Amino acid sequence: MKIPMLDLHAQYEALMPEIRRQLDKVFASHHYIMGAQVKEFEEKMQGYLGIKHAIGCASGTDALVLAVKALQIGQGDEIITTPFTFFATASSIWRNHARPVFVDIDPKTFNLDPSKIEAAITPNTKAIMPVHLFGQCSDMPAIMDIARRHNLKVIEDNAQGIGSTWDNKMSCSFGDIGTLSFFPSKNLGAMGDAGMCLTNDDDLAAALRQLRVHGEGPKYYHKCVGLNSRLDTVQAAVLLVKLDHLAAWSKARRANAAFYDRHLAGIDGLTTPYIDPKAQTIYNQYTLIASRRDELMQHLKKKDLACAVYYPLPLHLQECFSEMGGKQGDMPVSEELAEKVLSIPIYPELTEDMQQYVVDSITEFYR
Ligand SMILES: *Cc1c(COP(=O)(O)O)cnc(C)c1O
Repeated sequence: MKIPMLDLHAQYEALMPEIRRQLDKVFASHHYIMGAQVKEFEEKMQGYLGIKHAIGCASGTDALVLAVKALQIGQGDEIITTPFTFFATASSIWRNHARPVFVDIDPKTFNLDPSKIEAAITPNTKAIMPVHLFGQCSDMPAIMDIARRHNLKVIEDNAQGIGSTWDNKMSCSFGDIGTLSFFPSKNLGAMGDAGMCLTNDDDLAAALRQLRVHGEGPKYYHKCVGLNSRLDTVQAAVLLVKLDHLAAWSKARRANAAFYDRHLAGIDGLTTPYIDPKAQTIYNQYTLIASRRDELMQHLKKKDLACAVYYPLPLHLQECFSEMGGKQGDMPVSEELAEKVLSIPIYPELTEDMQQYVVDSITEFYR
């Protein structure tokens, strides 16, 4: 049996007739930039998440760049964030000429550890940027409490956590701005790059809408320098069709996770994902903590079983950030986990036979 990390073909087969109908409408309308489907998708997302404003843009990375810009954070400013995340979390801060200040993560949830945030606050700190890693919402009440006491803004990088909740409240609805990615491997994936900002604040929404079109308004008059970062009409049409299936897909991922939990929990040398009782995760990834991780990877590869390390090098140790002086030992939890985490296939279309094969292969390794 061969098992990939993600199988987009299964989704494609089922939805393609409807997606093609929607795409035909876009092509015939010739409104390739900011066509009707963009607004329709934004409104549908507002309803889905229960957030007042949804602003589509070109990628999850751009959503973060736009969010930092809309909050007027730049040169000389600092944003507290996690080093255990995809690169774009920190690069969005850097590209606005501000500095990411890394704070270590909770060893169980892999999310920003609220108890370590206050020690990192300086007079230059302007915001906190938590990431809902692998689909699990961070402890947002704790983070919002710190932010309020220190007068800081909050940007939720929710690229991996669309539809996840904390105490039944939607991720993206806690902070000043939440961001989403529709990269094809996210739970709601486009057929190319796409992203979105969410906010309940009317002024921030207006700023984001202006920033995504070169800071323009009225046309050819520029109050500030923005980006060219719109949600493509073609991608909006695809996402409109897919959004109807998102809840079922995330539910299927949770069912798959429950199967793994049942069969992998007892294995010596392995820790299954910890989900906080207050959180409902969407399992963008199912990530184990594994002793002899690299050997296990080799073993699984020999069995034609895909697996992946998210992420092998914490961001404070990335070469591009070397001028900030981050070094080994600064973020011990992230550094240790970078050597031990392993994500295994969790996509909704996995069958029980496939999951059993994964479980058997892992069990065999540790026996
Ligand atoms: C995917 C991802 C992004 C970037 O999204 P793109 O759409 O690929 O630009 C940002 N942050 C995190 C945590 C991500 O996983």
